[in-house]
Amino acid sequence: MTATENTVDSKSMAKNIVYDTKDLNLWYGNDQALKSINLPIRENEVTAIIGPSGCGKSTYIKTLNRMVELVSSVRLSGEILYRGRNILDRKYKVEELRTRVGMVFQKPNPFPKSIFDNVAYGPRIHGIRNKKILQEIVEKSLRGAAIWDDVKDRLHENAYGLSGGQQQRLCIARCLAIEPDVILMDEPTSALDPISTLRVEELVKELKKDYSIVIVTHNMQQAARISDKTAFFLSGEVIEYDQTEKIFSTPTEKRTEDYITGRFG
Ligand code: ADP
Repeated sequence: MTATENTVDSKSMAKNIVYDTKDLNLWYGNDQALKSINLPIRENEVTAIIGPSGCGKSTYIKTLNRMVELVSSVRLSGEILYRGRNILDRKYKVEELRTRVGMVFQKPNPFPKSIFDNVAYGPRIHGIRNKKILQEIVEKSLRGAAIWDDVKDRLHENAYGLSGGQQQRLCIARCLAIEPDVILMDEPTSALDPISTLRVEELVKELKKDYSIVIVTHNMQQAARISDKTAFFLSGEVIEYDQTEKIFSTPTEKRTEDYITGRFG
């Protein structure tokens, strides 16, 4: 165990590990995008993935729900244990993972449907037809995503009529409606204005009480504001992983310090 891991373990009160990545390598054709990644994601915490453009942040978060396999040239080695089971194992059913792990993307991507139908979409796919139950799920999810008050009088209007920030919170509500265990967020505020960004950040801090969250961000201030743990990626490697306050005050690695002080990236 390295000194860095020691610091993390002693301070984190040994929260349960939701995802444990072990010696993960990923190639797009002949180009290696992830190199021997070892990284735990803990329950009820926000884990931020930071690093310069092209360092593998997005690739990594997309391996956590196996979305990366949609790229035909991808090859993987190593293990990603989700709740103790290796999701890279051929026998692991990706559909099962999709019911436990929600994802929010860079650009809000509501369906061209009503606000209500966007949120009810997942539960309906899971066979819930009862109108009253669906109404309850929709309200709870919209409240959970702090957008209920904005939309409660227009649930049957098209989601495209919402502002960008509202659409992103709607997408978070859509995620909550399947009662996920983990929420993956890939630069969820990069298309939002500063006020909408702050609202989503507040929401993320609130959501970690009930969910485990992994957030990719190129915004270091954002990582510092909202995350418990930070992993700094560079050229496909995890250079340092630690308590967020440690990474931003006294990082162990010179390369981390150079990045967070703006010397590159
Ligand atoms: P980040 O999210 O940190 O900007 P990415 O994970 O998007 O980084 O990219 C990591 C590396 O993988 C980059 O060199 C990028 O060009 C490459 N890459 C990403 N997606 C693909 C793809 N679909 N096909 C081939 N190479 C890719």
